[in-house]
Amino acid sequence: MAAKIIDGKAVAADVRARVAKEVEGLTGELGRPPGLATVLVGDDPASAIYVRRKREACEEVGIASHHHEPPGDVSQEDLLALVEELNANEEVDGILCQLPLPDHLDADAIVNALDPGKDVDGLTPISAGRLARNEPGLVPCTPLGVMELLASAGVDPSGKEAVIVGRSNLVGKPLYSLLLGANATVTTCHSRTADLGEVCRRAEILVAAAGKPRLVTGEMIRPGAIVIDVGTNRLEEGLVGDVDFEAAKEVAGAITPVPGGVGPMTIAMLLANTVQAARG
Ligand code: NAP
Repeated sequence: MAAKIIDGKAVAADVRARVAKEVEGLTGELGRPPGLATVLVGDDPASAIYVRRKREACEEVGIASHHHEPPGDVSQEDLLALVEELNANEEVDGILCQLPLPDHLDADAIVNALDPGKDVDGLTPISAGRLARNEPGLVPCTPLGVMELLASAGVDPSGKEAVIVGRSNLVGKPLYSLLLGANATVTTCHSRTADLGEVCRRAEILVAAAGKPRLVTGEMIRPGAIVIDVGTNRLEEGLVGDVDFEAAKEVAGAITPVPGGVGPMTIAMLLANTVQAARG
């Protein structure tokens, strides 16, 4: 039987509509709109597109966008000074420093300098620690979007076997904490996992976040599993996920497409995080 297709665009539109209402209320309460600062360093074309989309999404829901584009050869010291300035700016509730940064900059030091209360990407050690301890805080947008997609599909992770392929600080690790917090039994796979197929076949919830086109084949999927594909791999044929979608949809119970699955959720959750940060 063919899997249900989880429509990330529709779920993201619901989140944006919810955020727009909250922004309206908050603007009245604060006497100003919530504000998101974006920092774009260098001339990476993909980063420029991502930041532009984030700013447009802010404007659509009424979040004020404060954009900064320091020169590509900005010094570590000057970039840190900008972060400090944004930390202190009372009209800025969230700060997003688009990664990757040029090689001469120490990205970890820049991220670590963010006020954790404004860390809408959830990347500071404080945010990561709070999430690992199941304490309230700002959570990275992509894994948060994965949880929202599961909820939209009516999937309660409690008691289920969940397997994540990928252990990055951006996706795999925070998702581990979120799924564990939701009472799933969670296994994280990575490039040294001995038998990926064997582990994946245990999963009732399978999340692929490896950045390897079609790494997860149909044979690796447990019949009826919920499959969330975070992967975005740009090939000549177009954008391809980490899951072999055509084969997987014949086995899975529900699956996200690429594009149109997790991608639209990431920006929607950034908006939600900015509202959360503005609430303090
Ligand atoms: P990353 O930092 O490169 O991490 C990839 C992870 O996958 C690593 O933990 C790596 O293992 C693991 N891995 C690589 N090859 C593997 C294999 N053959 N078998 C098992 N595990 C393997 O990537 P990321 O930032 O987490 O992103 C993952 C993917 O999601 C990328 O395609 C990225 O573009 C996409 N992404 C999409 C969105 C979105 O909004 N849609 C947002 C973020 C990321 P090791 O740790 O052992 O190296």
